[in-house]
Amino acid sequence: MAQWIQHEDGYWQWLGPENVQAIFTTRQGGVSLPPYDTWNLSFGVPDAPEAVVANRIQALGCLNASLDQLIMAEQVHGAQVSWVGPGDAPAGAYSPQTSVPGADGLLTQGTGIVLGMGFADCVPIFLADSAGRTAGLLHAGWRGTVRGVQEEAVWHLKRQGINPENLHVGIGPSIGPCCYEVDETVAQEFRAVMGDHAPLTPGVRSGHYQLDLWEANRWRLEQLGVPGENIDVAGVCTACHSGQFFSHRRDRGRTGRMGGYICLRA
Ligand SMILES: [Zn+2]
Repeated sequence: MAQWIQHEDGYWQWLGPENVQAIFTTRQGGVSLPPYDTWNLSFGVPDAPEAVVANRIQALGCLNASLDQLIMAEQVHGAQVSWVGPGDAPAGAYSPQTSVPGADGLLTQGTGIVLGMGFADCVPIFLADSAGRTAGLLHAGWRGTVRGVQEEAVWHLKRQGINPENLHVGIGPSIGPCCYEVDETVAQEFRAVMGDHAPLTPGVRSGHYQLDLWEANRWRLEQLGVPGENIDVAGVCTACHSGQFFSHRRDRGRTGRMGGYICLRA
């Protein structure tokens, strides 16, 4: 928790390795109208596109960056992770068609670009190596978590010569075990991957469970060799705080998206 702080302008910041800037926005900013009020950062919901562009300009301004530096992922609840560089940032900020297809994870060693994704309950996982030369962003809902988007990212990083021992991870605001009820089908998927470590507690309704996606991702990353002390869990639930966050579950799908953004300083 100590490594996550709320900036005086409202957005959250992960204090990872020096040279890495990582933020997670709230809904308190921007210009969108209900139910996307007011800082929706996604074209994937029926908000006014010009509002989304204005909102992205505001969000990127928190990083002293501009729209033409933004690279986004399609986000299909899969485990595909893609390396990207400055050449991959054509007009990703303006249209969803220009996001990296099929990707739920982005990694870079380039400066002058910002990796970005939209979130409304799913877990934003920020990654960086201790030298501050590599940055990554993952989108992990329950599907991405069991399908191993975090494992895929660590595999790519190892191939690039980055030892998991030197990785730092920030797990940002997302739906907490307090508010995330799942059914037996989902529970079984987690047991299949995590065995007795599956972070499930009996729910109020019979045959249902409260699932802790923060712990599931933390545990999997630790199993992959990331030191536990390098994993910073914000522990802030998006569904609990309606004034601060959009929540797909709480708002029954009619809601906006916060933005997770990470970049390397030049
Ligand atoms: Zn909650």
